[in-house]
Amino acid sequence: MKKIVLLSFLIVGFNNTFSQTSYWQQHVDYKMDVSMDVKTYQYKGKQELIYTNNSPDTLHRVFYHLYNNAFQPNSEMDLRLQSIKDPDGRMVNKIEVDGKTIKESRISKLQPNEIGYLHISNFKQDGEIAAAKEVETILEVTLAKPILPGKSSTFTLDFEGQVPNQIRRSGRNNKEGVELSMSQWYPKMAEFDFEGWHADAYVAREFHGVWGNFDVKINIDKEYVLGGTGYLQNGNEIGHNYENEGFDVKISKKQKTLTWHFVAPNVHDFTWAADKNYIHDVVKTSFGTTLHFLYKNKSETIENWKQAEPKTVELMQLYNNTIGKYPYNQYSVIQGGDGGMEYAMCTLILGEGKLDGLVGVIAHEMAHAWFQGVLASNESKHPWMDEGFTTFLEDFGLYELSDKKGENLIFGSYRGYRKLVDSGKEQPLSTHGDRFDENKSYSTASYSKGELFLTQLEYLIGRANLMKTLKKYFHDFKFKHPTPNDIKRTAERISGANLDWYLIDWTETTNTIDYGIKEVSEDTISSKIILERIGRTPMPIDLLVEYSNGTKESFYIPLRMMSYEKENPTPEIKRTILNDWAWGNPNYQIAIPKSKSEIKKITIDASGLMADVKLDNNVYEKNKKE
Ligand SMILES: [Zn+2]
Repeated sequence: MKKIVLLSFLIVGFNNTFSQTSYWQQHVDYKMDVSMDVKTYQYKGKQELIYTNNSPDTLHRVFYHLYNNAFQPNSEMDLRLQSIKDPDGRMVNKIEVDGKTIKESRISKLQPNEIGYLHISNFKQDGEIAAAKEVETILEVTLAKPILPGKSSTFTLDFEGQVPNQIRRSGRNNKEGVELSMSQWYPKMAEFDFEGWHADAYVAREFHGVWGNFDVKINIDKEYVLGGTGYLQNGNEIGHNYENEGFDVKISKKQKTLTWHFVAPNVHDFTWAADKNYIHDVVKTSFGTTLHFLYKNKSETIENWKQAEPKTVELMQLYNNTIGKYPYNQYSVIQGGDGGMEYAMCTLILGEGKLDGLVGVIAHEMAHAWFQGVLASNESKHPWMDEGFTTFLEDFGLYELSDKKGENLIFGSYRGYRKLVDSGKEQPLSTHGDRFDENKSYSTASYSKGELFLTQLEYLIGRANLMKTLKKYFHDFKFKHPTPNDIKRTAERISGANLDWYLIDWTETTNTIDYGIKEVSEDTISSKIILERIGRTPMPIDLLVEYSNGTKESFYIPLRMMSYEKENPTPEIKRTILNDWAWGNPNYQIAIPKSKSEIKKITIDASGLMADVKLDNNVYEKNKKE
């Protein structure tokens, strides 16, 4: 009887709708019909969105993103661009005024027929009119009737857009001549999760979306070749190398436009690009994913793209093996936009320049297919989770791919991070992507310090555990919205180490690591080494001792708050595990029994994986002291 009572208590406990342990996510089913006028770059569409409220909350309002409205003079994006100290070079014109170079916002100069816009009308919820208010890049909708937990509602609306002159990511006629880069082009439902609404205005970066399904029909001049998110349903009506092999596509001369029908299951965004002069290559891989390459038919760049194709296949195979299999049957690399940007099932990248650069961008953007495409962390709120982890995979992929193995690419990120610390401009990784004072601080933090979160995790729990952590993280959180605690908790589950302190120090503060060798003395019985913790951030210590006879020995000082001992990272060197080091004590003393040979050199962290900000006190060399 008692047991039964207890059990029902437990069930009630777990069913508590506000329980923090039960994960839920909202769900969307989009249907869109859009037609593009390629003369004015204006488009019109209808959207039907079935929104399912899986949250424990009753919703009275919903929010959409209208990203295109950022590309207008005096928008929040424009004003930010004009006021930030180091504006993105792609978004400004450099002009000379009185002998001085001024950076002028390109958005501020857009003419009415060049701006971007996205306006909606006729908003209805289940056939009833609902109040929808456009606030620049956000649409605030007051629902006609609340949506209860577990219930769905159908939203319908009409939209009208204009593709802006290409400024950032999306737009028309970019500098490489790609006509249409259609990212963030439609009214996109904002994400609502356990933290509430993420209806971030489009100021600079970046994106977040609701998991769901897209069914999109795009009507456009028949000369255009399209690529993007989703599987084309009617390749045999379209051609352009989308038809079945050997199929004779018949399009009458009278027909002016084609309607491309894409279906994208289980994604959180939908992007496309179009150009009259795209070459469209289809590459089938041995692991089942079909790769599409769409790039301008320009004699100078074709060879690079052809050479990049097998390298893309190789990279994808590597990423599959390292993180877990890319779960869609299709991925597209498309020339468009600027630089490179990740989207669902595809990327838009610049396509000119050197082969190395092209492969480098693909290595980065395709890694995002895992860290953002499938593991959809919030890019605005935790930019380090997608950019940092992507940089980790990119560096790993490019290093594996390279014929000449030089220095591991990750060490560039260590140098970048140390430079940022020295500059005094570091802000915590937990800073919202738009709230960094300078773009440079954002990039170094998100890409480099974010990558170091993982490489330093290797220092903490060992290489094998790090790689297992990444696989488990992918397995447990694919098609979800993981948060910082999820990667930390996964590493804890895999290794058994306590890592809460690491997540806090590394991502929520600008605390730094600085350990040093304070003193080395020798008497007749032993050598005494005093280490000191100078920085605020704690770390376990790997100490390498080299003797004058050429032998080496290592010592491992576990960190007390980790309650953990990692495996010997260099099994070829004999290792002694010492007593743990409690953070509160700034000093730690080691006594090594005197051997026949003298100590020649002592090094804190010979691997270089610990991001100590002052390296000169990490090494003691006997002869140097004398
Ligand atoms: Zn990136």
